[in-house]
Amino acid sequence: MLPFHCNSDFSALGMRMYALAERLFPICRSITGNGLRETLRILQQEIPLTLYEVSTGTPAFDWVVPREWNIQDAYIKNSSGEKIVDFQQNNLHVLNYSTPINTRMRLEELRPHLFTLPEMPDWIPHRTSYFNDNWGFCITHRLLETLPDDDYEVVIDSSLETGSLTYGEFTIPGESEEQILLFAHCCHPSLANDNLSGIAVVVELARILSTSSPRFTYRCVFAPAAIGCVTWLSQNQSELSKVKLGMVAALLGDSGQLHYKKTQAGDTLIDRASLHVLRHRNMPFRAIEFSPFGYDERQFASPGINLPVGRLTRTPNGAYPEYHTSADNMSLITPSAMADSLAAYCAIFALIENNYVYQSNFPYCEPQLGKRGLYRTTGGHGNPERRQMAILWVLNQTNGKHDLLDIAERADMPFETIASVAAELEAAEVIRKV
Ligand code: ZN
Repeated sequence: MLPFHCNSDFSALGMRMYALAERLFPICRSITGNGLRETLRILQQEIPLTLYEVSTGTPAFDWVVPREWNIQDAYIKNSSGEKIVDFQQNNLHVLNYSTPINTRMRLEELRPHLFTLPEMPDWIPHRTSYFNDNWGFCITHRLLETLPDDDYEVVIDSSLETGSLTYGEFTIPGESEEQILLFAHCCHPSLANDNLSGIAVVVELARILSTSSPRFTYRCVFAPAAIGCVTWLSQNQSELSKVKLGMVAALLGDSGQLHYKKTQAGDTLIDRASLHVLRHRNMPFRAIEFSPFGYDERQFASPGINLPVGRLTRTPNGAYPEYHTSADNMSLITPSAMADSLAAYCAIFALIENNYVYQSNFPYCEPQLGKRGLYRTTGGHGNPERRQMAILWVLNQTNGKHDLLDIAERADMPFETIASVAAELEAAEVIRKV
């Protein structure tokens, strides 16, 4: 079971997560195609991920798995033959899912296919056109402003063909068949915080969980956002009744504070556990109410699925200027921020793993602690009075209904203080698990 204090050296893991993100950064990913597949194959070198291919045309609730997109090259050349935009320099230059094109045109004709960020003139925007056939280039506004009317050679060597949508999954069996979902999207091209930081944190968390004999079964899913999540849910519909709770992991490498986005109900175990951990870390954080926008949490919250899935990010989507631009690169994320994110995830799942409901064996007044060696006002415990108080709370609240997290919240103490005295009281046969 995941211990309260993961003994992991988080700063070393931060370096390893950063290195993984760095390795994945150059790949041109999308919601389907070889970039996505290559990314998942690299993850297979880290954890035993199973890859699933769902064929083009397969229904996924109200959606259909789209044609597979692949790209070899893309550029715009001016009439002197100079490449003024080059996919090989930055894969964000191509409107993701662009249809192929190979032609010449004047600026006037090209211009509606050029996307820029006037307010951030040196950054390249990240734009997609997954379900609407279109082609385009994303460039800096600075470049657009200098483009003369000219005869441009416009080439996008891409293909949209029958193929499949790929996702990867690693299941860590627990003592219980009840499942906990960890979801990371992996469809963004060269963007670091928005999706590589989340992927790297889930890989490392999966590695920790797989060596800790967990109580619950964990399913770590790496899938494209939206259509990937919809496809995964439709392929796993018969399994969903086993899902206890889940978390969407994204945006975990920037320097901002942690933001926990609540589930639709807002007071489920994943909400209570996450907020308890964040409150007791003595670091700034924010709780966000649920909204049907953002990442895949809204699919899980749809009326027919209705699973309690929260989301833990650092700065949320759209709330930092580099979001979905070329400035979301390896310099935006740091090993220490990813290490801190991983530590928070570990603490949340350690809490969930260790959260039991107990019943007192001595419910008629308080049991005599002294004769069991449990009444200590001095000794090796850091704060004997606090420990004594925790014991009194546990004895008072173990009525077979409250879980340890309820008791920790009621006592306004860290979960681990309550859980460790509960373990002592259980060992002394004063309380028993329900
Ligand atoms: Zn995104």
